[in-house]
Amino acid sequence: MHSESSPLGEFDLIQRFFKAGADAMRSNNEKVIALGIGDDCALLTPVAGEEIAITSDMLVAGRHFFVDANPELLGRKALAVNLSDLAAMGAQPLGFTLAIALPTVDELWLGAFAKGLFAIANQYSCPLIGGDTTAGPLTISITAFGSIPTGKAIRRSGAKVGDDIWVSGTVGDARLALAALRHEIHLPESDLKQIEHRMHSPTPRIGLGIRVRDSASAALDISDGLLGDLQHILKQSQVSAEIFLDQLPKSATLHKQSEDIQNQFAARGGDDYEICFTAPAEKRNSINEISKALNLPLTKIGRITDKVSAIEKLSLLNKNGDLLDDAITAALLKSFDHFAK
Ligand SMILES: [Mg+2]
Repeated sequence: MHSESSPLGEFDLIQRFFKAGADAMRSNNEKVIALGIGDDCALLTPVAGEEIAITSDMLVAGRHFFVDANPELLGRKALAVNLSDLAAMGAQPLGFTLAIALPTVDELWLGAFAKGLFAIANQYSCPLIGGDTTAGPLTISITAFGSIPTGKAIRRSGAKVGDDIWVSGTVGDARLALAALRHEIHLPESDLKQIEHRMHSPTPRIGLGIRVRDSASAALDISDGLLGDLQHILKQSQVSAEIFLDQLPKSATLHKQSEDIQNQFAARGGDDYEICFTAPAEKRNSINEISKALNLPLTKIGRITDKVSAIEKLSLLNKNGDLLDDAITAALLKSFDHFAK
C-alpha cells in the first residue's frame, strides 16, 4: 500500500505546504536570515549594534478561539499577536517559527489558515523560518524574532514619576464583539460589522513601537485588558498611577453602549492589541507628531504619580477629577485571567 494516507505522509505534505508559502515570500531580512525553513535549524546572523527580541504566544482551540473559527482569520491573528509583542518593545520583525498540532489534516482548513498567516507575514516582512507539525488537539504556537538597536528596547520597568500614560487607537471593541457573538448583549448587525475585525484580526502596532522607542519610558501591548496590563508596568517600574476613566479612547460603536459597558469594556476588555506606554511630558509634541505621521490616535489617559516600593496603586478618576469609589475601582482592575475561570 502507498503511504499517502499515513500520518507521516500527511504531515510531510503540511510541511511542504508551509514551506511553499515561506519560499514564496520576499523579505527584506536576508542579511539576518542566513538559513530559513528546511534544515534542522534556521540560522540568524545578528547585525552588529542590534539585539534580537524573541517572543512566543500559544493559541489553544476552545480557550483562545472558537473551535469553528474562520481559519484564515485565525492564521492572521496567530501571527499578529506575536508581532504585537515585538511592537510593544519597539522591535522590527525578522522572522517566525510555527509549531502546530492538528486533530486531522483538512487541506481546505490548512489552505485558508496559511493564506491568513502569510498575508500578515508579507505585510510585516516577517518570513516563516522553521517549525513543526504534529497530530493533537488544535494548538498554534508561534515564536517571533525581531531586531532592536542595542539598549533601545522599551521595557516595562522604565516608567518614571511624572510621566504621561498613553494608549494607541481605541480600546474595548474586541470585548464588545465578543459580547455580541456570545449573545451577552444585543448589537445590531451593522455595528458588529464595524468592530468585528478588532477581535478577529488585530493590527500589530509595529510602526508605532519603532517610532516611539526614543520617547517612551515603558510600554506593553494590551492583550488581557488595559488596566490589568498597565499594572504590569506599575509593578515592574515600582510606581503608582492615576487614570482618567472618561478619557479612555473608544470607538463610535462602543460609545453607543451604556456608560457602564463603555467603562468595563474599555478598561478591562482583552484582545485589543493596542500599545500602552509611558513618556515624559516633554515628549508630548513628538508623540503627537508620531500620531499624525501614522494616522493613529494616541491618547493621554493618565499619569505616573508616585514611586512606591511595596504596593503599586492604580487610582481611577471621574470626569471631575474625583477618585472613584473603591468597589468600582476594584471591579475595573480585575483583569482577564486564563486560569481564574
Ligand atoms: Mg505582550
